[in-house]
Amino acid sequence: MKFVDEYRDATAARRISELIRAKTTKPWKIMEICGGQTHSIVRFGIGELLPQEITLVHGPGCPVCVTPIEVIDRALAIASLNNVIFCTFADMLRVPGTSGDLFSIKGRGGDIRFMYSPLEALAIAKANPDKEVVFFAVGFETTAPATAMTAFQAKTENLSNFSLLVSHVLVPPAIEAILCPKNSGIQGFLAAGHVCTVMGYAEYEPLAKKYGVPIVVTGFEPIDILSGIYLCVKQLEEGRAEVENQYSRSVKREGAREAQALVNQVFEPTMRKWRGIGGIDRSGLKFRPDYEKLDAEIRFNVSLIEREEDSLCISGSILQGFKKPFECPAFGTSCTPEHPLGATMVSSEGACSAYYKYRRDDRETAFAEA
Ligand code: SF4
Repeated sequence: MKFVDEYRDATAARRISELIRAKTTKPWKIMEICGGQTHSIVRFGIGELLPQEITLVHGPGCPVCVTPIEVIDRALAIASLNNVIFCTFADMLRVPGTSGDLFSIKGRGGDIRFMYSPLEALAIAKANPDKEVVFFAVGFETTAPATAMTAFQAKTENLSNFSLLVSHVLVPPAIEAILCPKNSGIQGFLAAGHVCTVMGYAEYEPLAKKYGVPIVVTGFEPIDILSGIYLCVKQLEEGRAEVENQYSRSVKREGAREAQALVNQVFEPTMRKWRGIGGIDRSGLKFRPDYEKLDAEIRFNVSLIEREEDSLCISGSILQGFKKPFECPAFGTSCTPEHPLGATMVSSEGACSAYYKYRRDDRETAFAEA
């Protein structure tokens, strides 16, 4: 298959791993930011192809994983109401709140629907004028334009029975938080290609300079990731800290300007809590005043719901590169995909689910099967 097979070629993967090996003279700690990259790394055994000096740690780039528990509880409170049709992406159904998840509300008769696009929820609102239809919008810069488009259309059409519970987050402020003085020693980053397709990568340039870390925009296939690691290691070994674009087949420096303009028209930056990490200034999006009528938090008066996270789950440490899933005492015992204790086990992009799903795979087989 063109544009996939060539990025999963085992011979090419070994050749790049040899280049990395030849370049590496000292230990380096590199974080891949995106959960999609984490899954590729674990699935294809990329860690095993690297010299032992290189440690890969997994970043906060999974929208389901970082949605704070209090927002899940706000979603549960709204979804429990009689007259509400609650719509969201499928991954959100099983993310545990303080008591239960959306799936359990569905089991008790709640009208919970999952979909691939918020525009589907808009269509449901038009078809059900006697119901309140709410879309739970999570995600990074990648999904924010679709949410903004949906809000724009709802406002344009003056739909009175539609609102959005918004928990969008932005990647660059999270990277800066991870690079703060108490950081986990991250020396280089693989930035998420799809996020940069929308936001571009100019925003990363001051961060690379300020903190002296290379940031390489990288795709999601094994060859993309190995190439990104090679570029990152090359910079580290040469004492450079720049932004490089491995994913040039999709990403431009300026990103998708029309999508950015739409997001900026509807939303403005706000402080947002990240599950397991805490509050990060200007790391989230909230409606601008013109769009506040669409804010489900205001409409259903749930913004005062605040919660503490379960202390058993160490996903916060995993998402900041301090620990790996195997280091969690609950991993694979009391916490499994069937009975998840934390969002990193629930999400299809979560680090814990990646380790649980692929840890027993034969690496050669994984390449052959891909
Ligand atoms: S294994 Fe479960 S409890 Fe442990 S960090 Fe992962 S999601 Fe949390």
